[in-house]
Amino acid sequence: MEDCIFCKIIRDELPSRKVFEDDNVLAFWDINPAAPVHIIVVTKSHIESVAAIDKSNSQLLSDIFEAIAVIAKDLKLEDGYRVISNVGKNAGQTINHLHFHLLGGKRLSLAMC
Ligand code: AMP
Ligand code: ZN
Repeated sequence: MEDCIFCKIIRDELPSRKVFEDDNVLAFWDINPAAPVHIIVVTKSHIESVAAIDKSNSQLLSDIFEAIAVIAKDLKLEDGYRVISNVGKNAGQTINHLHFHLLGGKRLSLAMC
């Protein structure tokens, strides 16, 4: 997608600090981290959010979560971490390209909302 920030990162038109890449998934450090470790994990194809997952693209979720497990090992998050995906206005989604926040590196707040 032309104007999508994450598509631009995927196309290398914007810089990022990459931590993982395979055929379908890219992961990079969040520009405005909410925890000592804050990684954004995206599908390389432009999908608007979790709400746009269906039978035709749900295999990508396995790819995403396999990547998350590898990244968490690489970044030594053995004490635990949190995975979040915001969907739409009420969740505060700001970039309409499917992504998962991988948060860790400290004892995270238990507040979920
Ligand atoms: P969300 O609110 O779930 O849509 O999350 C979007 C996330 O993308 C936020 O945590 C932002 O800090 C992060 N973000 C926005 N622009 C960039 C960028 N150029 N590089 C890395 N992370 C970004
Ligand atoms: Zn996109």
